[in-house]
Amino acid sequence: MEQLIDPFGRKIDYLRISVTDRCNYRCVYCMPLEGVPFKDMSEILTYEEIVLFAKASYDLGVRKIKLTGGEPLVRKHIYRLIKMLKDIGYSDISLTTNGSLLKHYAQLLKESGLNRVTVSLDTLDKDKFRSITRLGNLDDVMSGFDELDKAGFTNTKINSVIMRTYNIECIENLLNFAISRNYEIRFIEYMPTDFNENFKENFVSIDEIKSIIKNKHSLRQTSYKTNGPSQYCEIENTRVGFITPLSHNFCAFCNRIRLSSDGNLILCLGHDIKINFKDVLKQKDLEQIKELLKKSITKKPKQHQLLTTNIHQSFSNIGG
Ligand code: SAM
Ligand code: SF4
Repeated sequence: MEQLIDPFGRKIDYLRISVTDRCNYRCVYCMPLEGVPFKDMSEILTYEEIVLFAKASYDLGVRKIKLTGGEPLVRKHIYRLIKMLKDIGYSDISLTTNGSLLKHYAQLLKESGLNRVTVSLDTLDKDKFRSITRLGNLDDVMSGFDELDKAGFTNTKINSVIMRTYNIECIENLLNFAISRNYEIRFIEYMPTDFNENFKENFVSIDEIKSIIKNKHSLRQTSYKTNGPSQYCEIENTRVGFITPLSHNFCAFCNRIRLSSDGNLILCLGHDIKINFKDVLKQKDLEQIKELLKKSITKKPKQHQLLTTNIHQSFSNIGG
């Protein structure tokens, strides 16, 4: 079997697909209140084009897919895409969502064969939730968790971005919630983009987050590892992950590529290099797509540049 390997010997087996750049929230760390200019629908990949890209990736050794956005659940009939990806042979498909629409879709997502869901949740305080998401309602997300459990999802994860002036005091409640529901929780360092405000004032390092946790809990080191960037500890039986894009570089272990909603291959979150696949996808020639993928992977940068430069697009376009 052919395998995508980049110039630094890293095996690329994980694809993140942003299915839409649209979102029903305006999180302070992601977008300005007025939103970012959304792409015209004619620029957004169709499900058939996404599937073609995923098929080419599968043939080149990619085995895990994450569906993201924007908010992936605002794209119509996302469960249809999941079924199509399953038919290619993917057995590990997960989705990252703000949780607002899960109460409507959890069951359909389960039936489509989705393996896992990650919900972004940065606080359990209704007012703070509103000020972070600007348009969100915490009750919707809490019902979403209930529906996920009812539908039979296991290995549910929570992603929490911690910002000093918004939610640093929420770490303990978030942890307790994850423990009570047996969900994995991952704390993510706030990353600088051209679209977020007061980055310096709001950045909190994972070392600081860990020291806050250690005031109340004993954090046990664990040998658990995934191919991803998270380092793991445990509290009781709950896995707690820490993602440190800024404070401890993890690029040596990078295994991923990203497909933006408008058909660009993004080789690194912290670099501007993007390769247009839209044109080749329109031609529907699988071999040509595979050739372009193999050629593109030779351009994957060694590491991100987030310590010296911002990400120049909103996460809503590249999917985080
Ligand atoms: N809308 C979905 C959601 O919020 O989960 C999926 C897309 S969102 C862009 C994916 C992830 O990126 C979320 O977990 C979000 O918290 C994270 N994210 C967005 N902007 C970020 C930033 N500036 N720094 C760190 N994480 C960020
Ligand atoms: Fe939307 Fe997710 Fe960005 Fe929040 S982080 S604005 S939910 S895309």
